[in-house]
Amino acid sequence: MSRTALLPKILLATLYALAGMSSAGVAGELTLRGERMQGGLIVGQAPAGTMLSLDGNPIPITPDGKFVFGFDRDRTEPAILEASFADGTAAREEIAVAPRDYDIQHVNGVARKYVSPPPETLARIRADAVKKRKARVKDTPLDYFAGDFIWPVTGPISGVYGSQRFYNGEPRRPHYGLDIAAGEGALVRAPQAGTVRLAEPDMYFEGGLIFIDHGHSLISVLMHLSSVDVKTGMKVERGDVVGRVGATGRVTGPHLDWRMYWRNAHVDPQLLLGPQPEE
Ligand SMILES: [Zn+2]
Repeated sequence: MSRTALLPKILLATLYALAGMSSAGVAGELTLRGERMQGGLIVGQAPAGTMLSLDGNPIPITPDGKFVFGFDRDRTEPAILEASFADGTAAREEIAVAPRDYDIQHVNGVARKYVSPPPETLARIRADAVKKRKARVKDTPLDYFAGDFIWPVTGPISGVYGSQRFYNGEPRRPHYGLDIAAGEGALVRAPQAGTVRLAEPDMYFEGGLIFIDHGHSLISVLMHLSSVDVKTGMKVERGDVVGRVGATGRVTGPHLDWRMYWRNAHVDPQLLLGPQPEE
């Protein structure tokens, strides 16, 4: 967080303290916002000092009580959120996860090497996978997940979360990204602030690839870039240019594929966005 952003928070906290109020909600109270559906991301607020678990696993909370979790594409069972408050009370909330209908698409004309990667590429694919895994293991105490997200680029939507594609007739993994078919070279902006965890110009499947960590295991993945203009470890602000749209990796044409992970769950970036801004 920048110093300029921190200062008003300190002032606010002081004002709340003077007024005898808490800036982090009332004791014993949890507030949740976000889509309670498959692919949904939930951002919550609890009183500072609350301990939380989701489905029995601890989830971290920021010093001022913010937390985040998400639901994977095929989750059907309700989520169980449990809280132990600093005053000794506890709460348990069962969150129903609404099912969605997903698009099934057939895509032909994908280069043969991507349908079944040739054996000599397996070492490279494995090395890519290690890089990606390492870039996601660390949980960082940033709180950008609680802020607003913007479109990283605008253009026709050519792919949506949850769809499943058949390449040349063969079923593939479901598609977890939002595909925006902006032109080759269009500027790609950070959808929200964060720390760059991975910046690779040439991954086998993803081509030019960037991971931006928005805090507490919420990560944006930007794929198929023709140019990667950030480095691992860099701090980016929302709206900063991080690269350019391309057709690198396993694609049939230039587009940005934006995915999001919360831990190992793929969540739907489009649920975090309003309508596209006018060009
Ligand atoms: Zn895609």
